[in-house]
Amino acid sequence: MDMNAEIKAMLVSIGSADIDEALLRETVKTTIPSAGPGAGLESFFIKSGGHRVRLSINKNSPLKVARCCSDVVVIKDGKPIVTGQLEPALSHCPDQAYLTISGRCIYDCKFCPVPKLDGDVKVPDEILDMVEEARRTGRLKAISLTSGVEKSPEEEVGKAVSIVRALRSLYDLPIGVSVYPTDTSSEELKEAGATEIKYNVETMDSEIFARTCPGLSLEYVLKSLEKAVKIFGRNRVSSNFILGLGESDECVLTGVARLAEMGVIPILRPISPHPLRKGEVKVERPSAERLLGLARATRKVLEDNGLRADLAETMCLPCTGCDIASHRDV
Ligand code: SF4
Repeated sequence: MDMNAEIKAMLVSIGSADIDEALLRETVKTTIPSAGPGAGLESFFIKSGGHRVRLSINKNSPLKVARCCSDVVVIKDGKPIVTGQLEPALSHCPDQAYLTISGRCIYDCKFCPVPKLDGDVKVPDEILDMVEEARRTGRLKAISLTSGVEKSPEEEVGKAVSIVRALRSLYDLPIGVSVYPTDTSSEELKEAGATEIKYNVETMDSEIFARTCPGLSLEYVLKSLEKAVKIFGRNRVSSNFILGLGESDECVLTGVARLAEMGVIPILRPISPHPLRKGEVKVERPSAERLLGLARATRKVLEDNGLRADLAETMCLPCTGCDIASHRDV
C-alpha cells in the first residue's frame, strides 16, 4: 500500500500522527525545526512510493503510526491507509544539513513561534561542526541555512555570507540560503558561494500580509526575488507561500502566476497552527482537496513559464516533507 499524491495530501492536511516514541527512537532521530512556521514541534518522516511526508508527533492525532513487519503503517479510523519506512533526518530533514543561524527574531509574524522562543544564536563554528557531523554519515547531499533576524536583516545577511563562504571553502555541495532580503543580499550570498536562495513572500494577499507580518514589506520581498532571479538564475530562487491564513484560491493562483512569471518557484506551505500563537491569528489547515488542486495548478503555471521545481537541490523543494510539491508529488 504505497503512498500516492492523494494519500500524501490527506496526511499533509492532518499534519500530525500519534507514534510510539520507542519505535521512533529505535529507528530514527526525531527532528525539531527551530525556524519557520513548524518550529518547536517534534516530528518525523515517512517515505513511501517515491513520496516523503513530515508529520508532527501528536497523541490526539486521528492518524496512528504502528510497526508493520520491517515497515510502518499509518492507520486512520481503524483502517490501514499507507505503509512506508521511517526516514532518519540528518540535521532537520533527510539528506540535508538544514540549520538555523539565529533562532530568534525582532519581527513578529503572527503565525511564527520564533519571536516567542528566544532560541539560540549559533556561531559559525557550531554550524561548521554540525555540517561536518552530517557529512560523516555519508548521506549529506546539500547544506541549507535559514535564520530569524536577531538584530537587523543586514547583520543577519552578513552572518549568512561569512558562514556560506566558510562552507564553500570546505564542501563541494549545493548550499541554499533562506533569509529576509536586504539591498545587497543576493549579490553577497552569490559571491560567497550560495547555490540557491529563498525569500519568503509568506502570502500574496497584501491585506493579510500587512496584518500578519507587521514591519515587513511584501513589495520589497517581491523586488528582491526579481533581482535574485537575475543573480542566481531561473529554477534557483524559491519563496514560501503559506496556505491557510484566509487567502482565497484566486489570490493563490494569481500570486503563483506572478511569482512564476518572475522566474520564482512558489512553495505552497500549509499553515501549522502553533500553541504559542493561539488567538493571535486565525488559521485553517488546508484540506487535502485544496492542497492537491492548488499543487496541480501550480505545476501547470510553472511549466507554462518554463520552470521545474524538481531541479532545486537545497531547502524545501527537494525535501518535500511539508508540502505537495510540483514535479515531485504531482
Ligand atoms: S519541507 Fe522544508 S520545512 Fe519541511 S521538513 Fe523539509 S526542509 Fe523542513
